[in-house]
Amino acid sequence: KREKILISACLMGEACRYDGGHNYKQIVEKIKTMGDIISFCPEEAGGLSTPRTPAERCGLRVITADGDDVTEAFEKGAKQAVTLAIREDCCLAIMKSKSPSCGNGTIYDGTFTHTLRSGDGVTVEALRAVGIEVITEAEAAIYFTDTHDTHQRK
Ligand code: SF4
Repeated sequence: KREKILISACLMGEACRYDGGHNYKQIVEKIKTMGDIISFCPEEAGGLSTPRTPAERCGLRVITADGDDVTEAFEKGAKQAVTLAIREDCCLAIMKSKSPSCGNGTIYDGTFTHTLRSGDGVTVEALRAVGIEVITEAEAAIYFTDTHDTHQRK
């Protein structure tokens, strides 16, 4: 049976980024040959529109550049990502770096000055809390360019 991999939808080329753009990465073509992709955007799933005002994690909240509190939408999207990943038995999640939802290890610090701090996005934190392995697109590019396939991960 092929493994299932959850991927940030913008990495697949979906125009769900806050500014209406995407973050398509060529590596997804390789990943598609190795597992079944489940493409998901937690911010759209949480009810936010595209385009939308950029947001950053500020302590326990998520705040837009205009000062609106969008924590609830981010948490709603995160819960849906967890439900989907568990239901589909995803072995791995490949999530867009630095995003307040999908960021993994490094995110913006809440000052809207392009300053990074260590930490995870809201969805990545929720996925990790239930034991799902999460890597960035850069880590995926290294991993999937190797000879590994997803079956060897377990
Ligand atoms: Fe991409 Fe995640 Fe942002 Fe959606 S929430 S646009 S999937 S980084």
